[in-house]
Amino acid sequence: MSKGRILVTGGTGYIGSHTVVELQNAGYEVVIIDNLSNSYSWIIDSITKITKIKPEFHEIDLCNGKDVNDFFNKNKDIDGIIHFAAFKAVGESVENPNKYYYNNLVSLMHILQNMQKHKLSNLVFSSSCTVYGEPEKVPISEEAPIVKAESPYGNTKQISEEIIFDNTKISEISAVALRYFNPVGAHESNLIGELPLNKPQSLMPVLTQTCIGKQEKLFVHGNDYPTPDGTAIRDYFHVSDLAIAHVKAISYMQEKRNKDKFTFINLGSEKGYSVLEVIEEFEKINNVKLNYEMGPRRAGDVIRVYADSSKALKELGWKAEKSLSEMVRTAWKWEQSLKDNKI
Ligand code: NAD
Repeated sequence: MSKGRILVTGGTGYIGSHTVVELQNAGYEVVIIDNLSNSYSWIIDSITKITKIKPEFHEIDLCNGKDVNDFFNKNKDIDGIIHFAAFKAVGESVENPNKYYYNNLVSLMHILQNMQKHKLSNLVFSSSCTVYGEPEKVPISEEAPIVKAESPYGNTKQISEEIIFDNTKISEISAVALRYFNPVGAHESNLIGELPLNKPQSLMPVLTQTCIGKQEKLFVHGNDYPTPDGTAIRDYFHVSDLAIAHVKAISYMQEKRNKDKFTFINLGSEKGYSVLEVIEEFEKINNVKLNYEMGPRRAGDVIRVYADSSKALKELGWKAEKSLSEMVRTAWKWEQSLKDNKI
């Protein structure tokens, strides 16, 4: 018997597809909404190959209120919603803020309106560690202050959390905002992974793209930071670990273990890896040589960020399990398969 019917918005995207796999493996029935603005429909076939279960798929733009209302009118038996759908490119959001405010906020509003109308209660929201900015101390716990967002993208996450909070106060909606640190890597099957349709800005896809020859050289943004090797430190963790956290967040709410109507939880490995450490591990594990060069610091980059994920362990029973070697190995395998498939 199914553990429940879960709507996954953005379910053909990078984190969404991994989460659909873990939900189905855990015995949930999944229905996906995605408008394929940053993903492909063949991801559904890949998920089906991995789990032997074809998830239900609706190609809907969540900004289209009528289509979203129609969907919910026909699907009243949703036990939980994981809302991934959003635009996520920080740089693009600076150049085109309204595209980001419109897509990320209007889609959320449509979900919340329908949750209220149909008295649906369990929402898991994709938030980000960007809400903490440059922290005063690391590791960063949920008590750390929220600082003014550096980009319109980051601001959409902060505003979304506020909108959700206000909704939980006046309705049956309970929500968990998962604040991710830096998810990387790909599924062990090598059938799903990250698909940067635009030029990526984060380390792992730039690294794999440089190694495969899509980008000429990797520039390390700053080697004069006050860190052991001078390069910036981030909390990388495997996307499959992140996917499992979503499954746990859904059962946390289904079993009503959440004491608060709105809970914030940090998700990371609690380890900080420097840019050079990641590069060295990538070269060693994959037996490759990377073309990289030290460059100047990048505006807006923070020095050192890693999570205190003890709340995730306490509340969800979740801990990141996979090592940096598994992250770099699966990321590289995935990039090679993209080349083989001419993507
Ligand atoms: P992604 O771009 O791979 O997936 C997002 C999916 O949402 C895509 O498939 C896209 O087509 C879909 N989508 C976007 N707008 C939509 C709309 N209006 N209607 C329907 N579908 C729409 O991104 P991801 O890396 O999987 O990120 C998922 C979520 O996690 C996002 O909310 C992102 O902001 C958040 N997040 C990601 C990271 C990261 O490092 N990847 C870190 C922190 C937070």
